[in-house]
Amino acid sequence: MRQFIEIRTEVAKQHPNILLLYRMGDFYETFFEDAVEINRLLGITLTSRGKDKPDAIPMAGVPFMTLDSYLARLVKLGKSVGIVEQIGDPAAVKGTMPRKLVRIVTPGTITEDELLPAKADAALIAVCPPSGKKSPQWSVVSLVLSSGAFKGFCCTEDELPGEIARISPQEILIPDSCRETAKSFSGAAQLTPLPDWHFDPKHGTDELLHHFNMENLDAWAVSEKPGVLAAAGAILGYVEQTQVDAVPHIRPLVFEESSRFVGLDPSSRRNLELTEPLRSENGPTLFSTIDHCHTSMGSRMLRSWITQPLRDPTVPRARHEAVREMIENESLRDALSEPLKNLPDLERVASRIALGSVRPRELSGLRDALPALQRLSEAAALSRVPLISDTAAILKPDPALTDLLGRALLELPAVTLRDGRVIADSFSDELKELRELRDNAGNVLAQIEAREKERTGIPTLRVEYNRVSGYYIEVSRAQADKVPDDYRRRQTLKNTERFITPELKSLEDKALAAKDRALALERSLYQGLIESCSAYVDALTRASEAAATLDALLSFAKHAADMEWTCPELSDAPGLMIEGARHPVVEKALEHYVANDCSLEPGRRLLVITGPNMGGKSTYMRSVALIVILALAGSWVPAKHARIGSIDRILTRIGASDDLARGLSTFMVEMVEAAAILHQATDRSLVLMDEIGRGTSTFDGLSLAGAIARELADRIRCYTLFATHYFELTMLAQTCAEVANVHVKAVQSGGKVVFLHEVTEGPASQSYGIAVAQLAGVPQHVIREAKAMLRELEKRAEENGPEPDLFSSPAASLPEPEIELEEERESPEVEKALSIRDDLLAIDPDTLTPREALASLYELIQKA
Ligand code: ADP
Repeated sequence: MRQFIEIRTEVAKQHPNILLLYRMGDFYETFFEDAVEINRLLGITLTSRGKDKPDAIPMAGVPFMTLDSYLARLVKLGKSVGIVEQIGDPAAVKGTMPRKLVRIVTPGTITEDELLPAKADAALIAVCPPSGKKSPQWSVVSLVLSSGAFKGFCCTEDELPGEIARISPQEILIPDSCRETAKSFSGAAQLTPLPDWHFDPKHGTDELLHHFNMENLDAWAVSEKPGVLAAAGAILGYVEQTQVDAVPHIRPLVFEESSRFVGLDPSSRRNLELTEPLRSENGPTLFSTIDHCHTSMGSRMLRSWITQPLRDPTVPRARHEAVREMIENESLRDALSEPLKNLPDLERVASRIALGSVRPRELSGLRDALPALQRLSEAAALSRVPLISDTAAILKPDPALTDLLGRALLELPAVTLRDGRVIADSFSDELKELRELRDNAGNVLAQIEAREKERTGIPTLRVEYNRVSGYYIEVSRAQADKVPDDYRRRQTLKNTERFITPELKSLEDKALAAKDRALALERSLYQGLIESCSAYVDALTRASEAAATLDALLSFAKHAADMEWTCPELSDAPGLMIEGARHPVVEKALEHYVANDCSLEPGRRLLVITGPNMGGKSTYMRSVALIVILALAGSWVPAKHARIGSIDRILTRIGASDDLARGLSTFMVEMVEAAAILHQATDRSLVLMDEIGRGTSTFDGLSLAGAIARELADRIRCYTLFATHYFELTMLAQTCAEVANVHVKAVQSGGKVVFLHEVTEGPASQSYGIAVAQLAGVPQHVIREAKAMLRELEKRAEENGPEPDLFSSPAASLPEPEIELEEERESPEVEKALSIRDDLLAIDPDTLTPREALASLYELIQKA
């Protein structure tokens, strides 16, 4: 306990909040408040050390074999865990076993394969606020420990949430002083505040120079970026602390302009369901739909491509060409697929070699994968497309590594090194001899047993071994007086006596010594093997990246071929033109998907989309955004033909989002998102607006929607799809050169509405609201009433002449709604009808419980 308290106190100085797992034999124990906490968090039985004494210490332990599963659960709960191991050989130590903190596991520094998500990276990032007014930029550095990828970039405060969502880190390091601000951009990641001085450019520079053993940082183009240096220093310091002695493989810091990527804010990523489903937990996403990768590395690569579409067309174009070749050349596709199916997660094996924590089976898995890597390299060399053929040289395994692993390891080594059986006999003559000595004891023992049986005439005599007594001769009590004089009594049990002879004793000494020495030698040979392998970590990491690239491209090709996608044209001309666009996720779920065209170009920058609810407006808008994302990620697209101009951001305001749960009203969320779009959109942005202005009164909503549409089309001049239930907005097209109308078609047949899901030029002719209400099961008499009211309203509208042109001149303000209402006040009947209509329109069925819906219906009927 004295040792425990010493270590605990030392660790707590740097990491006040971690839970300490303390290795004692076959268990990891926790004590004091840690024990109480692990009992509370995971329900592990709380016992105590020195049970009956007044100063008993609370204690709870987990078996060492199952550490990973407990670690996984603790880290998921946001707990950081320190692991204290026994160091040294239990057999050789007298007195207290020496122990040491070897690792701190935090959400962003996990490297165990079992604890990491297979198809996503666990990134750690450090965020450094602007240093002064001069440069308003925030600096961010990210590190993925399991691949060594180390990147930095700068962005504005507005862009920060989107940029962090792009990386989707597990853990964010921030200076203590910006603890509060950080909550606004941290999303689901754990926030780890560090003392401010950890974020110091000078300290960061020193850390980088030291870690990468360099004289200066000129080659990295970051010396002018103090925030990036500060954040990089904070990350390196944190990793050093959490990994304690192990030195992870970290690749040189790459500075990326955040403007390389198409901007996508967190709500657009959610709304478009790129990687996370919006509603049901297991619902399909863009990623899950198109991921056919053979390896987890490939899936991670694919995921990073679609979450980070690129503004510059060069790389996506190269991927399109690679996909084309893979589609056209079946034998190439097969030749690449076969070896990929036989590859383990090389990237993570490599990182664990660097950390020195690689397990025997991972190394034998690597050994077995090298021939597949060789075949993959040969297949890639057959390609005519540089993106593929260039990987051939990178993939080719080093023959020296093949040779080393081939010689060093047993065919199927043990899972852990604990009991040996990992290194091959042929790898070391000394090991072979020791093992023979150890194993021969078995033969010799059998010989001794046979001989002694004969000599003593005791047929039940046995020569045996156990850890406490060593070798002994066991004879039943009844026969014990028959033993010869040279037998020394060692132990008396209930029914048997155990003896030892000088011969047996000397054999025991030799065999045990051989066994221990063999084990010790095997451990040191294994350490040596890991060290030799670490020379190949860099090459392996690059090979795994190349394999992942090929895998992700193959996945694109497979999906494109299966679903008849086309190669998009990435054009320098502005705007986009898509013929026969489909929604990549919805088309998988439907038997008959109606493909639609979309053209957004100068002179036609904003499409007002009208048509009935359920008509397909949001599916249409999303399909366009997803096609742009796929095209700029390098994939082919679900369309007949697609030409995509340069796009800098995709901004969306779609659907009532989960912010409702945070207590913001629907309307507030809508306006917050609309405001963000108006601030961020440029003339190269793609904007999707779905039903803006819905959450307020009709006239408020209509005026806001109209003004926002006009701002987008006339001033910002971005490319906008604007779905609305305000039919009045279709008039914008008459006065605003950049606005055009399209509508989703539906027909009434036998009093029912049939959705055609076809997007056609021009405004919708009628809104079909009543027909949709009928489909939804609104009672017949209410439908009848509504129809009568509608007829009345339409008749009145005809008598009053055309509706006022709300949007005739840009400068004209919208008419005051109250005044309009006043003027219309002619007959009380109509007024009542109008008021009922307003009530009807104010109902948002999606937000009502069945009981509330029923109550509203009764209210309406009563009014009527
Ligand atoms: P809206 O936004 O107009 O209310 P949605 O886009 O949500 O309508 O579409 C409603 C449903 O219609 C979708 O769930 C889908 O099943 C179907 N749908 C939409 N677009 C198409 C299409 N192009 N082809 C076939 N079915 C479609």
